[in-house]
Amino acid sequence: MSPSEITDLRSALEFLASIPGQLVSTREPVDPFAELAGVYKLVGAGTPVAPPTRTGPAMLFECVKGYSMPVVTGILASRERTALLLDSRVDRLPFDLLAALEHPRAPVTIAGDAPCQEVVIRPPFDLRRLIPAPTNTLLDAGPYFNMGLLRAEDPETGESDVTIHRLCIQGPDRLSVYFVPGRHIDQFRMKAERMGRALAVSISMGMDPAIYLAACFEPPTTPLGFDELTIAGGLRRRPVELAECVSVAAKAVARAEIVLEGEILPGERVREDEHTRTGYAMPEFPGYLGIAQAALPVIQVKAITHRRDPILQTIVGPGEEHTNLAGIPTEASILRLVESSMPGRLRNVYCHSAGGGKYLAILQFRKESERDEGRQRQAALTAFAAFAELKHVILVDEDVNLYDSNDVLWAMTTRYQGDVSTVFLPGVRCHPLDPSQSPDFSPSIPAQGVSCKTIFDCTVPYRLKERFQRAEFMEVDVRKWLG
Ligand code: MN
Repeated sequence: MSPSEITDLRSALEFLASIPGQLVSTREPVDPFAELAGVYKLVGAGTPVAPPTRTGPAMLFECVKGYSMPVVTGILASRERTALLLDSRVDRLPFDLLAALEHPRAPVTIAGDAPCQEVVIRPPFDLRRLIPAPTNTLLDAGPYFNMGLLRAEDPETGESDVTIHRLCIQGPDRLSVYFVPGRHIDQFRMKAERMGRALAVSISMGMDPAIYLAACFEPPTTPLGFDELTIAGGLRRRPVELAECVSVAAKAVARAEIVLEGEILPGERVREDEHTRTGYAMPEFPGYLGIAQAALPVIQVKAITHRRDPILQTIVGPGEEHTNLAGIPTEASILRLVESSMPGRLRNVYCHSAGGGKYLAILQFRKESERDEGRQRQAALTAFAAFAELKHVILVDEDVNLYDSNDVLWAMTTRYQGDVSTVFLPGVRCHPLDPSQSPDFSPSIPAQGVSCKTIFDCTVPYRLKERFQRAEFMEVDVRKWLG
């Protein structure tokens, strides 16, 4: 099977099953309450989940205790697997996303039977009994849908947006939704609320991985009003299919496994850990437990629709899956902005797992002449402009493997002098989920989420290049010796 035949989650699973080591299926019963995530932590979650963890296969749990619905996690929890699913290569992923961004295809709304509506469930229902939403740790506020793609439309302009937001189940037909300030659907919600109206939303779960990746582009690459589904269409060279919801004026992804249709209620708020009072939400992408929010908007679920024999897709929170989802679109955004200002110099970018794909970027820069000296730091400043939540940039030369942390640390050791190779940019707005970005950590931080952005310039000064030639070994075809 070829990756071009992937149109939904089940075809992605079929593709992965055909490649050794990319998918593990188990019939061993597993509890969605903390146990499932505990298993996957050891099998494939990856950094920044606390050790022991590793990068491994995706995992399909066929027998989830108390439910008839299977759960799959870790579809994108390896860069190699992500490349396979997109018919790309580890080092080409951001370039292929960029090409998709430049050749977008608008989604189409299909008439008639949508696969995601093979089964329609109307109220009264109890989400908690029907769908095995995992609770990832013992301290989580409750069970979460965390691979739910929200789609909503601007109540004034009709422009649409898709974004993944964490959804905690608060009752048989109620969810809380957490928006980091500034997110596009939250802006639609606030507009609707000012008009005293509910905002119709669809929540599509279990889809073609290309849709999830495209949805994770952020401004300025995809400003308010930009439909990220057009990028998914570009990636697959065919439009994403949408279906009209059955209970609200919204559209959902037609080939999703499960769709929750609902409305964000105006003026209504719920405490995120209303029912558990644990004080925490769920594990956040930087690897720490998120604090439960005091007052979150509420989604009233009006209908559940799903395919026959649906599969719930989930993510454990931090780890390699988040790194790829957040990081690869960010790499594309950085490449795009730097390339437009200094063509040919930035060879590649890697948004490292240590920052969950957001906080740490490694830029591989080629200085072509003495006149390029210093432009590597300009590229780093441009990267901060391309992605506001970026905190650290490590600059390396083109002879360093940016995916190999040993090699990057070698560059930081032999091509870096702390006092002259470091650039501090204190007091810049960054991201609230890094616990070091707080006033009690540093006198230069005036408020939570402000940080000292830092450039670690591990490139060789151009005038000294001769001294920094790496020892060259003979090139051989090694297969003869390995048998
Ligand atoms: Mn958007």
